[in-house]
Amino acid sequence: MGSIVGNERLTQKLCLDILAGRLAHAFIIEGKRGTGKHTLALNTAAALACSAKDATDSDVPCGTCPECKKIFEGKSPDIITVGCEGKTTLGVDAVRFLKEDVHTAPNDLDFKLYIIEDADKMTVQAQNALLLTLEEPPSFVRFILLCENADLLLETIRSRAPVLRTEPISNADVDEYICKNDRRAAQMKLSSTQEYNELLMAAKNGIGTALELLDPKTFAPIREMRRLAEDVVDNATDGSGARRIFPLLSRFSQKRDVLAKQLACLSEAVNDLILIKKSDNAPLCFFADRDRAIELCDRCSMSFLYELGKAVLKAIDNNARNANVRLTLIKLMSDASLI
Ligand SMILES: [Zn+2]
Repeated sequence: MGSIVGNERLTQKLCLDILAGRLAHAFIIEGKRGTGKHTLALNTAAALACSAKDATDSDVPCGTCPECKKIFEGKSPDIITVGCEGKTTLGVDAVRFLKEDVHTAPNDLDFKLYIIEDADKMTVQAQNALLLTLEEPPSFVRFILLCENADLLLETIRSRAPVLRTEPISNADVDEYICKNDRRAAQMKLSSTQEYNELLMAAKNGIGTALELLDPKTFAPIREMRRLAEDVVDNATDGSGARRIFPLLSRFSQKRDVLAKQLACLSEAVNDLILIKKSDNAPLCFFADRDRAIELCDRCSMSFLYELGKAVLKAIDNNARNANVRLTLIKLMSDASLI
C-alpha cells in the first residue's frame, strides 16, 4: 500500500491480515478529520480486490490493475459508502437500506464492502439495527466503520468490530503528500512560503484538511482568524494596554459559533507561548514561525501567559453558556489584566 502517507504501521497490519486471510469482516477506523481514514478504507478495499494479491513480489494494492483502478476511481458498485450527507445524525433509514442491500450478491468482486462514514453519528436506533447485520452478515459482506470517537459507539458494536486508530502524520508528511498530489500546493510553497507554512499549521497534520485549505475560499477565513489571534497575543504581550486592545474587539464575531472558533484559535496561540517559555524546541500547534513565537514569548512572564490562557478558556466557557458576546470579550480582557 505504497500510496498512503502516515498510518504505515496500520497499513502494514491490514495488508498482512488480508494476505493471511484473517482480516476481520467488520472493523472500526477511529481518527480525527483528515487523518486518512477514508484513504485507508479504500486501500483496504483495493488490497482485498487487487489481482496482484497472489504474486508475492508485488505491492498490494498495486493501484494499476483493473480492480484497483475501479475502486480508486470510485466506480466499483461493490464498494458502498453510507454517510450522513450533511445531516447531524445517521439515522435508521440508512441502516435499513444497508440491511436489505447486504443480501444481494456482489457485481464483479467476490465481496461487498460497506464503508460507514461518521459511524459515531449513528443514532442508538440505527446502531441497534446495524448490530443485527454485523452479527450475521452474508459471507461476502464486509464493513468498515469510520469515526472520530469510537467511544460513542455502543459497546455491542465495538465488541464485534475491532477499533484501529489512525496515526498522527507529521507536517513534513503532509507537505510532501500535498506537493506531490496537488499543483496548487507546490505553487503556493514556492510563491508564498509563509502562507504555505501557515496552511500546514492550520491543517493540524491532516492531509484531507490541507487539501481543502488549498482552496483560497476555504483558507481565507481561517487565515483571518489566525491573524486576529496573533494580533491579540502581540498586543497583549507588548504591554501597551487598552488603547490598542479595544480596536481588536470589533474583529471578533458576534456569532457564537464563529466566536468559539476564534477563541479556540487564540487559546492555541497562547498555549504555544506557554510551551515556548518552557522550551524553545517545544512542538507548536499554532505558530508557523517559531522565531516569532519566541519573540512574543520573551516580552512577558510565565504567570502573565497563564493568566491570559485561563482568561481565554473562561471566555470559551462563557460563550458556550450563551453569555453576551460583547461582555464575554470585555471580561476576557479584564481577566487577563489587559484593560
Ligand atoms: Zn491491483
